[in-house]
Amino acid sequence: MTMANAFGSSDFERLSAAEQSMITRREKVLGPAYRLFYERPLHFVRGEGVWLYDAEGNAYLDTYNNVPSVGHSNLAVLEAATRQAATLNTHTRYLHENVLAFAEALTSTCPDELSQVMFTCTGSEANDLAVRIARNYTGGSGIIVTAHAYHGVTSAVAEFSPSLGPNVDLGAHVRTVPAPDPSLPPEGMAGTFAEGVEAAIADLKRHGIKPAMLILDTIFSSDGVIPGQPGFLKAAVDAIRQAGGIFVADEVQPGFGRTGEGMWGFQRHGLVPDLVTIGKPMGNGYPVAGLIARPEVIADFGKNARYFNTFGGNPVAAATGMAVLRFIKEQNLITHSRDVGEYFLDELASLSSRFPQLAAIRGAGLFIGADIEDAGRPSASLAARIVNGLRERRVLISASGPHANVLKVRPPLVFTRGHVDHFMKALKKTMMTCLED
Ligand code: PMP
Repeated sequence: MTMANAFGSSDFERLSAAEQSMITRREKVLGPAYRLFYERPLHFVRGEGVWLYDAEGNAYLDTYNNVPSVGHSNLAVLEAATRQAATLNTHTRYLHENVLAFAEALTSTCPDELSQVMFTCTGSEANDLAVRIARNYTGGSGIIVTAHAYHGVTSAVAEFSPSLGPNVDLGAHVRTVPAPDPSLPPEGMAGTFAEGVEAAIADLKRHGIKPAMLILDTIFSSDGVIPGQPGFLKAAVDAIRQAGGIFVADEVQPGFGRTGEGMWGFQRHGLVPDLVTIGKPMGNGYPVAGLIARPEVIADFGKNARYFNTFGGNPVAAATGMAVLRFIKEQNLITHSRDVGEYFLDELASLSSRFPQLAAIRGAGLFIGADIEDAGRPSASLAARIVNGLRERRVLISASGPHANVLKVRPPLVFTRGHVDHFMKALKKTMMTCLED
């Protein structure tokens, strides 16, 4: 029997009896839509810092998960969450200090123009809300995204998440543009990307659709991790604004210090978005997300529609998020992310001089992508062998991009140079083994 998973298919017989049983139960009770990572799926029972532990007590180096960005089971965050949970948990229809303090703390990390916050539980909900606001504000409905973007799971958002694949239809009001091309020099990259956005605007208009928003993950995670030269997004953002649409920065991936150049990915570009959607690391695992807005963009929406999200931004969510922000600041994790990220990039670059299959390496802070090629062409199969080989050496990463050949390296921000060394040793051995096969 063969079970499908994110990196091809695994030989069911190679799994332990316990793993086989869990997979069978999982398929039975969760149905067919779920996927597991790795040919030999993992079963973790505990996490601490950058380490995950399986049922036998083996430690795995987490070089993949950006949600526990201040470390798995971070005690400062847990203490704040449990203290508030033991005191009171209600919702945003009562006055509560935490909710206000957290919203103020979030806006204080942004340019002055971004001064209001609306809370949700997930990044998908934040993007869904962004669509409603953008439509209300612009009177348009057209949405422009990159060719392999992912923005979430609601029916409105799945319609502009092309990375979900050809079986998930895009909306008739959605246009995709080629992701920025990292092989171009900075000027060319900016110009070509903006031309794509202009062409999408023209195409929407030709079909009688007024543009509402350009939404971009400012590090293009699912397009293959493309940080690009700081500033290159400006021309594309100017284009959508000239066409009457707004710019939404989806910071669910790059936000909360990951890029090492400020709290938010858009700050690398010297831009002030109209809306910023945030989530994932915001609660270090607690489901809290939201959007930060220019007040004029949400003013009319707020007049027309009341907003209430039962769990979004509740006092426990706010206490948890506040503790995450505090930890990032107290531990200087933005600078740390930049320093460790630079070291990581250097180490990968020196390994690539030995292995041409490690063809191009890009990154900002602790978000790194490495293109895997075989005979000069993108190779999903070699990337999958490397990802699975690292897993066998108890190091966790994944692969992304339209060709599934980009190694996605995105550890918790508390990752240190020592952890980079551990990773590099495992990667070197894995590359040697994969290329000998
Ligand atoms: N935007 C981006 C860029 C994401 O990567 C994701 C999640 N992978 C989302 C939005 C959706 O977030 P959530 O899974 O919390 O709904």
